[in-house]
Amino acid sequence: MRPLRVILAALLSLATACALAAAADLKERPFDAERAYRDLVQQCEFGPRVPGTDAHARCAQWLAEQLRACAEEVALRSFTVPVRGKPLPLTNIEATFNPDGKPHLLLCAHWDSRPTADRDPDPANHAKPIAGANDGASGVAVLLEVARALKATPPKQRITIALFDGEDYGPGLQDMFLGSRVFADQHREQAFEWAVLLDMVGDSELRIAPERISLQEAPKVVHRIWSAAERAGCKAFDREKGPAVMDDHVFLLQNGVPCIVLIDFDYPHWHTIADTPDKCSPDSLAQVGRALLRAIAEDEAEH
Ligand SMILES: [Zn+2]
Repeated sequence: MRPLRVILAALLSLATACALAAAADLKERPFDAERAYRDLVQQCEFGPRVPGTDAHARCAQWLAEQLRACAEEVALRSFTVPVRGKPLPLTNIEATFNPDGKPHLLLCAHWDSRPTADRDPDPANHAKPIAGANDGASGVAVLLEVARALKATPPKQRITIALFDGEDYGPGLQDMFLGSRVFADQHREQAFEWAVLLDMVGDSELRIAPERISLQEAPKVVHRIWSAAERAGCKAFDREKGPAVMDDHVFLLQNGVPCIVLIDFDYPHWHTIADTPDKCSPDSLAQVGRALLRAIAEDEAEH
């Protein structure tokens, strides 16, 4: 029995040594929490990013400008979707880093905000648009800062950042997730190795649990991100199962993209006029940003 134990011990120490070597090779990409928070505030300052409004158009230009300063390729893809018999003009924004790299990863969020505060406790507010600090701006703010980190230390992989429009148009589900449906259709031939959607990741009391559809359809991606988050010391990530949430990732999953959503659905200001920047924190954005950057670096060390 002894030789076997010796061999096992030797193998174990070899594995530990490999893990340490891999950790040492990881590219460190810093995440500026305060700058990410300022980007969240900036998006809200344009006003509600409701498709068809001036605020929406100005924010699209600003987002494209931020991404053009970082990525090799930036495209604004405009299209219309019929909503209640009328064409609704929408724009997805796509940025690509290292277009010749492999594998191809996808990071995404929705950049529009909801035209109706239909969950507001005061019915007089139901027809008003929301600021969408958490529901919209938070995921985008994290991705803008990730984009800057990728600019400073370019990735080995090809990485696409996609900002979807029309996620929250509604009010019914049939008129939501409009941009991601079009994106999924346009990128049918793209073999994304893994993909992560961010939505409502700015809550100052952030707790992210594995979302059920993600866990069922893309368990390896959930494991990859949670393991990276734990190794990066991101305490907001909890292993206890969360609820199933209908979101943009479902349309990517339907087209064969292993996409998970990071979302904290326990947010009392969801779809109310109180979804404002004061409910969000720089630290929460950083928890998610650092987990993503760690997952990218670990993936990089594997290839
Ligand atoms: Zn929403």
